[in-house]
Amino acid sequence: MSSHKVIIIGSGCAGLTAAIYTARADLKPLVLDGYEPGGQLALTTEVENFPGFPEGILGPELIERTRKQAQRFGTEFRSGAVSSVDLSKRPFTIVAGKETYQAETLIVAAGASARMLGIESERSLLGYGVSTCATCDGAFFRNRDIIVVGGGDTAMEEATFLTKFAKKVYLVHRRNEFRASRIMLDRAHANEKIEFVTPYAIEEVHDVSKKTVEMVTLKNMQDGSKKTLTVDGVFVAIGHDPNTKVFKGQLDMDENGYLITSHGPKTNVEGVFAAGDVQDHHYRQAITAAGSGCMAAIEAERFLATAKA
Ligand code: NAP
Repeated sequence: MSSHKVIIIGSGCAGLTAAIYTARADLKPLVLDGYEPGGQLALTTEVENFPGFPEGILGPELIERTRKQAQRFGTEFRSGAVSSVDLSKRPFTIVAGKETYQAETLIVAAGASARMLGIESERSLLGYGVSTCATCDGAFFRNRDIIVVGGGDTAMEEATFLTKFAKKVYLVHRRNEFRASRIMLDRAHANEKIEFVTPYAIEEVHDVSKKTVEMVTLKNMQDGSKKTLTVDGVFVAIGHDPNTKVFKGQLDMDENGYLITSHGPKTNVEGVFAAGDVQDHHYRQAITAAGSGCMAAIEAERFLATAKA
């Protein structure tokens, strides 16, 4: 078992920024990579809204550079998804893979994973016309026809947002009823660029062999009939799941599983801080995740200084 001053769970934008700050404070942080090293940025293509990159930067490259920056100041990285934690006493115990770690402070930056439809072609074309983030990728679809999948507030919000760029947005939902709130649904219905296509599920996204989205096959969920739509992009907007299962019963979370923080990054357990999408379903941006990672690092440093005194 190894002991550490700071353990950071997650290596997306929030976790890596927390690593840079705690490493520069000479706290020798350990980052546990988890299931999706690099987080959501590792799954996207061009990032045009991260300050400091006027020409834009590829998501995986931005993550790689941030990781190197964290390493430069002495951050240690280990792979292995966290399977259990004990936050009832300090030092905290974290089990990841076959290893058990102890930490005086813990920064949870485990992120939230976009729910996916679960079809093979969707996975293959992620970043090549299939996206889970309208804010990140919407601008690439100027004057194009696209699909937004989902029937909740996220789908309505993203469909409405995407009409700023797209020529036409097909809102594909598997039922005729919607989970979305009345106001968001009405707004989408009132938008001339949005056409509702229900009750349909996406069966296949074409064309995997060309690494680009050209067409989608839809299946009617009532009569089983099929039809195709010619589109250049598919935005999957069926929700996100925060990666917080292992903290259940130990860290306060809302009804959707997002960690509840107060006074910036503080959780209900002293010495445990949360940063990034694991505690934010509202902004969900690389820059806001990085900002909250910085806040968590500063609080962890202060906590250690006070605990020592
Ligand atoms: P959500 O309310 O859970 O809705 C998810 C939608 O995706 C549902 O319509 C669901 O269909 C569909 N779906 C789920 N799995 C699917 C699958 N495998 N294939 C096809 N469709 C699938 O999620 P959300 O829209 O992300 O909203 C989450 C929470 O955030 C909600 O409380 C929402 O109000 C809130 N939110 C608020 C705002 C805002 O107020 N500005 C914006 C975004 C989100 P079924 O209905 O058939 O299950």
